[in-house]
Amino acid sequence: MRKRANLKVNTQQPVVPPEFLETARNSVFETKAKKTYRCRVCGADGATEQSEMLCWVCRRLKISAWREIEQQVPLSE
Ligand SMILES: [Zn+2]
Repeated sequence: MRKRANLKVNTQQPVVPPEFLETARNSVFETKAKKTYRCRVCGADGATEQSEMLCWVCRRLKISAWREIEQQVPLSE
């Protein structure tokens, strides 16, 4: 009796929601389909068009450099 009740619950309420499965499938596909290039700064593999042909290291350096510049620029207004 107890097993049957559990089965009924499982079929009505899937443990993983279908939307989540869809998202997971898409992200896996994206990772596989994403073409990588050589970083235009340091030449390391892993650069993408989305990251402006920069590897993640150079991209992070660039972002932190931007932040520094923003902090150094005096407010002229
Ligand atoms: Zn790089």
